[in-house]
Amino acid sequence: MNKKKNVTHHPSLITHHPEGVVWHPSRVSHNDRCQLLHQQGIVLWMTGLSGSGKSTIAVETEKRLIEMGKLCYRLDGDNLRHGLNSDLGFSPEERKENIRRVAEVAALFADAGLITLVSFIAPYSDMRRFARERIGSDRFIEIYVKASVETCKKRDPKGLYKRAESGEIDQFTGVNAPYEVPGHPDLILDTEILTLDQCVAGILELLD
Ligand code: ADP
Repeated sequence: MNKKKNVTHHPSLITHHPEGVVWHPSRVSHNDRCQLLHQQGIVLWMTGLSGSGKSTIAVETEKRLIEMGKLCYRLDGDNLRHGLNSDLGFSPEERKENIRRVAEVAALFADAGLITLVSFIAPYSDMRRFARERIGSDRFIEIYVKASVETCKKRDPKGLYKRAESGEIDQFTGVNAPYEVPGHPDLILDTEILTLDQCVAGILELLD
């Protein structure tokens, strides 16, 4: 561990601050933390329609990683709306703020050495680009959890599509709000073709 010198954080974390607030460096580096944990801090960013399988895959992947002795943490879109993002709705601006906050948290978790599983719809490409830049592309893996709107409507695990179609929920992605399909994801998991186990295996293979 570096005991003498101050070390700095990932360059993506240290931005120009408009009020001139100065970054205070640590004496412990990202690599020190990763060495301690015997793993690489990284963000696995799962994007896809509601009901495509993001949370289901993240939950299973988290369990498998913990069994393998890897420290990970899941940031789930719905769960974060219970606390950190409870003040936000679903307008384009609020969705952007939702993603901005989770990108900031994920960047810190990855810097701390955690394998961070993010499952957010994140419907706009520019939001996902922002997250990649903020976290650092060397620590960011974009996973497109793919399923058609028709399949997601059939699954409707939380009854949300039904409510959106009856007009009870406004601005629901895939019904009355857009989803921009990722152009160049690092991994595509087609949950209409792959089983849950195959999806988890695909992620573990990528991490390997
Ligand atoms: P999301 O987090 O994307 O909104 P959920 O994980 O909550 O989606 O729901 C996905 C639904 O699809 C669950 O009911 C799950 O059992 C089902 N499902 C069917 N096949 C798969 C698969 N291969 N991977 C993940 N989920 C699947």
